[in-house]
Amino acid sequence: MDNNKLAALLFPEVTGTPSELEDRFPKRQLPQGAMVTRMGPSPTGFIHLGNLYGAFVDERMARLSNGLFYLRIEDTDDKRYVEGAVETVTSALDFFGIKFDEGAGMSGDYGPYYQSQRKDIYQIYVKDLVSKGKAYPCFLTEEDLAEIRKTQEANGETTGIYGKYAEKSRSLSYEEIESNIAAGLPYVVRLRSKGNEVDPDHCLNETGSACERDGGVTYANHDGRIYIHLKDGIRGEVAMPANDQDVVILKANGIPTYHFAHAVDDHLMRTTHVVRGEEWLMSLPIHVELFEALGFDLPVYCHTAVLMKIDDETGNKRKLSKRLDPELSLDYYRSEGYHPLAVKEYLMTILNSDFEEWRAANPDTPLEDFEFSIEKMNSAGALFDLNKLNDVSKDVLLRIPPEELAEFMIDWAKECRPEIVPLLLGDGVSEGAAGADGPAASDSATTSAAPEYLIKILAIGREGKKPRKDFISAGQMFDFISYFYDDCFMIRETVPEEVSDGDASEILRRYLESYDHNDDQSQWFDKIRTIATDLGYAAKPKDYKKNPDEYKGHVGHVSTVIRLAIVGRSQSPDVWEIQQILGEERTRSRIEALLV
Ligand code: GLU
Repeated sequence: MDNNKLAALLFPEVTGTPSELEDRFPKRQLPQGAMVTRMGPSPTGFIHLGNLYGAFVDERMARLSNGLFYLRIEDTDDKRYVEGAVETVTSALDFFGIKFDEGAGMSGDYGPYYQSQRKDIYQIYVKDLVSKGKAYPCFLTEEDLAEIRKTQEANGETTGIYGKYAEKSRSLSYEEIESNIAAGLPYVVRLRSKGNEVDPDHCLNETGSACERDGGVTYANHDGRIYIHLKDGIRGEVAMPANDQDVVILKANGIPTYHFAHAVDDHLMRTTHVVRGEEWLMSLPIHVELFEALGFDLPVYCHTAVLMKIDDETGNKRKLSKRLDPELSLDYYRSEGYHPLAVKEYLMTILNSDFEEWRAANPDTPLEDFEFSIEKMNSAGALFDLNKLNDVSKDVLLRIPPEELAEFMIDWAKECRPEIVPLLLGDGVSEGAAGADGPAASDSATTSAAPEYLIKILAIGREGKKPRKDFISAGQMFDFISYFYDDCFMIRETVPEEVSDGDASEILRRYLESYDHNDDQSQWFDKIRTIATDLGYAAKPKDYKKNPDEYKGHVGHVSTVIRLAIVGRSQSPDVWEIQQILGEERTRSRIEALLV
């Protein structure tokens, strides 16, 4: 068959050539060793933790090697297209501080970056493969394919179009193809796989055992089956049976398959490292063969491990699931108010096992200075643990100054809890309580900068040797500090059982009577101790523990009564500090409210 004639028949309108494309997209001018990575999401509008995890790897590799990270939208399957999906991806990653250097929606010399706009480019390569006898049109119908599958399943054979099952389509004559096309029969274009042939072109040595080829792939003959051996950037050496399927490269609608678009795009966009999920590992032999057929150098493949978690019910490891695990969606972190740095820092602990050690030795160094490397990644499955994320977050938030934390909270509230924005921008005094003498609302209440009031609240207990380490996310922080806002204040717990109702009122009455807002912390606590001892409670918990019969309880029980009145809960930072922020009037009125 005259393959050039066939190529002209199939693609009469395609005139471009691969060498023109090589000229149009020349090798990138980057420093030695620079890595070019990319993210290739489908525009489904759902972006999850696995995407972020992969993008973070891409971004780190590119940054640390002075390379480049770009965004390509893999929209060859228009059924999956969701309006606004590209913005969703960029804004989600932007939130986590992951920026692209070029790509969809941005400028760049290697586009178009939407696969749907690259049809003419793909067709040039398909035509070229047909003209070299490396690809052919296939007119098998859905029914034919189903029939073949049935036979293969009945024989216990691998399904697909390969070997003898490909013969019928491979051997069509030019005239048959021409008349099929004239009759308007739909067809796909398939790769003519070299399959399992012991072929000198496959570069096996004389004994047919093994031989290294350019691009780092070794072919080896194991018991009559050809295997490819190559080095995955994360997994090290991988060995898999070579592809023998005549895979579809161009669908009947003229759109390429993922496999083909991947080879063409990653070559022309000069990707050096393809970071993608483990689920693509199985397709690697197809990709190796496609790159070879196209005459392209192979990029370094880096197959990341699937994110797993321990199932709460069974205690077994399982994949994170869209249906079962809200934490898989990136929206979860955003709506809960996790700080992007915390999520990134946590991901780094999963990505490189020596990160935690590095962080302990360099508590104040930016994450970006850590020498991330793909070789240090674990290929055995990355275990995601929300509790661990929360612990990491506590440390990360402690390193963020209260001013910044306050702004972060306000931004979060604007996006996720607009109803509390006025509270966060105000001074905590109830909207309806005109004239209350809380601290004056700062000017910033009308601007977006955080007001002093919120900054002071967030600053409590964060200094000193044992700083408060309980902030996890903006949502949880707001719950923790909500008692500073009169509109949210409520008493959530009851007084300790050691304290009778009568004593509780008496404690509050005496507290109010002796209250002096100007007392320092120790004067203040001395007064509580006096109230405690006067009413028959031990001045120190240990005295009570030693002689429980001599006392009703201890000073801690007494101060809990006061804490509940001011804060509404038994756990909180230092009450004296809280009162200083609430102001005298509001402190007194919270006690008074319980005495009527
Ligand atoms: N479009 C593919 C996906 O969404 C990208 C895989 C790749 O990075 O090559 O899974």
